[in-house]
Amino acid sequence: MTAERRDVLVIGGGHNGLVCAAYLAGAGLGVTVLERRDVVGGAAVTEEFHPGFRNSVASYTVSLLNPRVIRELELPAHGLRIVERRLQNFLPTADGRYLCSGGGRTHAEVAKFSSRDAGNLDRYGERLEAVADVLRGLVLETPPNVVQGGWPAVLPELVRTGRLGSRLSRLDMSLRRELLKLFGTSAGEYLGEWFESEPIKALYGFDGIVGNYASPFSPGSAYVLLHHCFGEVNGKKGTWGHAIGGMGAITQAMAKSAAARGADIRVGCPVSQVLVERGRAVGAVTERGETIRASAVVSNLNPRLLYLSLIDAAALPKDFLERIAHWRCGSGTFRMNVALSELPDFTCLPGRSAADHHTGGIIVAPTLKYMEQAYFDARTHGWSRQPIVEMVIPSTLDDTLAPPGRHVASLFCQHVAPQLPDGESWDAHREAVADLMIETVDRHAPNFKAAVLGRQIMSPLDLERTFGLVGGDIMHGALQLDQMFSARPMLGHGNYRGPLPGLYMCGSGTHPGGGVTGAPGHNAAREILADFRRRRLRRAG
Ligand SMILES: Cc1cc2nc3c(=O)[nH]c(=O)nc-3n(C[C@H](O)[C@H](O)[C@H](O)COP(=O)(O)OP(=O)(O)OC[C@H]3O[C@@H](n4cnc5c(N)ncnc54)[C@H](O)[C@@H]3O)c2cc1C
Repeated sequence: MTAERRDVLVIGGGHNGLVCAAYLAGAGLGVTVLERRDVVGGAAVTEEFHPGFRNSVASYTVSLLNPRVIRELELPAHGLRIVERRLQNFLPTADGRYLCSGGGRTHAEVAKFSSRDAGNLDRYGERLEAVADVLRGLVLETPPNVVQGGWPAVLPELVRTGRLGSRLSRLDMSLRRELLKLFGTSAGEYLGEWFESEPIKALYGFDGIVGNYASPFSPGSAYVLLHHCFGEVNGKKGTWGHAIGGMGAITQAMAKSAAARGADIRVGCPVSQVLVERGRAVGAVTERGETIRASAVVSNLNPRLLYLSLIDAAALPKDFLERIAHWRCGSGTFRMNVALSELPDFTCLPGRSAADHHTGGIIVAPTLKYMEQAYFDARTHGWSRQPIVEMVIPSTLDDTLAPPGRHVASLFCQHVAPQLPDGESWDAHREAVADLMIETVDRHAPNFKAAVLGRQIMSPLDLERTFGLVGGDIMHGALQLDQMFSARPMLGHGNYRGPLPGLYMCGSGTHPGGGVTGAPGHNAAREILADFRRRRLRRAG
């Protein structure tokens, strides 16, 4: 029997796989996507988790999705609608007060705690924005690849490096210093230079530990904070919003866009092996035993999963394999969805009817010190005794998710250890830790626990089993200096090309990293198209 043959085979139908497929199919290539689960979208999916209640299962809020990807893939025409939160964040404080941000209220709110901090807000925002703008400009660029070899290999990379240098040279010296500091320092130290009151430091500092299994005082956490500032909602920079229908609405729109351009998307099709012949990736074999051959094989998977599970070790360079085995994964997050009979009634801001603060990201973590202790606890004990919870209640903005009068909430909880100490399994502790997360919210909104009608739990192990997120890592690999930009996933392979000809990567383990951005998929597609144009890849015919 002759094997099916395609121009491009994408392994994994996460949002980046879909974006990559849509661009490639749009350029006239024959593209097939093979997704392991019965639904596309990877970590950006909406599912019914309790009868009558639907919610985003893993990722839960939008900002980083690249506007160019939205426009070029015509996602609104394929059903995507993103709305803004009425308030960005709401943070109950340790002394029974609260801090809100967004909705034009940030200055007055911060002034409740420190007039000096309120006075610094604009300058802080402007400087962070100026640096974020430079990095935004790099999100859709292929990083310069660190290559060995003669001039033909090196010259194009020097040109890229030159372009990068010229972009950075547009920053004045003080912003260059700021950029350097943001790469090297901690969120806690950075914020401490701007602000004196704890609530604003905690509200902004939360971004430095999202998906980052670290203290907010760990070097490098300031960059993670910056990573969460790249985004925008409907043209408003740095804000977060909600996709009507949940995160699955984004990936359903992407799948429709890819299909409309001719991509063939198959679900329930786990790939068991990448086919390698004479040192070249030439296709894949599914668990059902089908072989599909292709000129380009593109992986949407965490690099560790791709190289350690799907490719015969003998086909890969030894040094490459050793380094991939040490690719750092594990973001220390525990995710829950709850079905609610009523909205939480916060002691510090009472009310059970939908109010502005119910639409924001509700941060239960009053100080940076509290966040640091949460990390220390998780390191020694496996999870924090007093965890950090961000709660978002999307049903306050979207009536498609819950029955009338009822609500759904996403709980994004940190810190938990990706692997528990002493070989313990998350399966033995997930229910107890879920109780702890609910009690943590209940301490601030005492009707919360009783309002829970049903719950869905995603421990790091559940995230790994369900979505293929190694160690539950939401970013496909820690966002640390040695795992970023040209080094994502490894120096010499920062340009979406794997170590075998014909093999490409398009997932969050490539530049610019995790988040529902569409950027790795977009950039990988551009590189693959370039290789077809240069005849390094040949059409299937
Ligand atoms: C709990 C959680 C909360 C998050 N919150 C947010 C948020 O609010 N906002 C935000 O922007 N980002 C958030 N993120 C991060 C973001 O969701 C991810 O970084 C992003 O969705 C990853 O997309 P991807 O396409 O690169 O990979 P994935 O979504 O991981 O897709 C990879 C796909 O490959 C498939 N696959 C795996 N193995 C195989 C195989 N052998 N054969 C075929 N298919 C295979 C998987 O099933 C999956 O569909 C969150 C992530 C998590 C887990």
